[in-house]
Amino acid sequence: MSFLKPSMMALSKQKAEKACAVLVRKYGKTVSERKLPPIDELVMTILSQHTSDTNMSKAYDSLIKKYTSWEQVLEAPHDELAEVIRSSGMFNLKAKRIQRALREINERVGKLDLALLEDMPLEEAKAWLTSLHGVGPKTAAIVLLFSFGRPTLPVDTHVWRVTKRLGIIGQNVSRERAHELLEQVVPKNCIHSLNNNLVRHGREICKAQRPQCDICFLSDICDYYGSIS
Ligand code: SF4
Repeated sequence: MSFLKPSMMALSKQKAEKACAVLVRKYGKTVSERKLPPIDELVMTILSQHTSDTNMSKAYDSLIKKYTSWEQVLEAPHDELAEVIRSSGMFNLKAKRIQRALREINERVGKLDLALLEDMPLEEAKAWLTSLHGVGPKTAAIVLLFSFGRPTLPVDTHVWRVTKRLGIIGQNVSRERAHELLEQVVPKNCIHSLNNNLVRHGREICKAQRPQCDICFLSDICDYYGSIS
């Protein structure tokens, strides 16, 4: 784990706390209702890669309609599984990733169950998940946050862009490193709602091409806004 310099850390913490509070006031304390079992969350996240939520949901629904257990998914012929999840796009690759992840879990745990992550120290749980083939820091954080309620922040494209523009993390910070840095500065009790609220803010206001700074309620703490006004 790498750490921020103390002066940067203090500033980033202040901004993260302010962004948390302002976004909660504006959008509410948005904690997801969805709490899927961890393997479902993991598979759903693989299905969501490079596609819309609608296509991902369609593929996930077909999957759980066709198979009644993860053991069946693991044993399914590759072509059949790929066809079932076709609507998610890149279905051959995703079918391979899903079966490989399930096989690795089965071999390591002795069954298709991720309950061992519940009480594992957070860093260890992240390392365990990211050591599965095809599972990166974002997927690991999604499983740990949404299935187990553990304080870890999945950095998607919106969270990455908005936190860079705000100056909570530096402009050249990679998405992988952003996971580490944000977890050092975001208050633990705000991680879940900040994640959801930053995604919403990035979709509705702080858009990639044309951020709507003139109507943004975070402009007073935003580095990007400071640089253009
Ligand atoms: S002020 Fe502009 S750049 Fe900053 S967070 Fe708001 S929309 Fe994004």
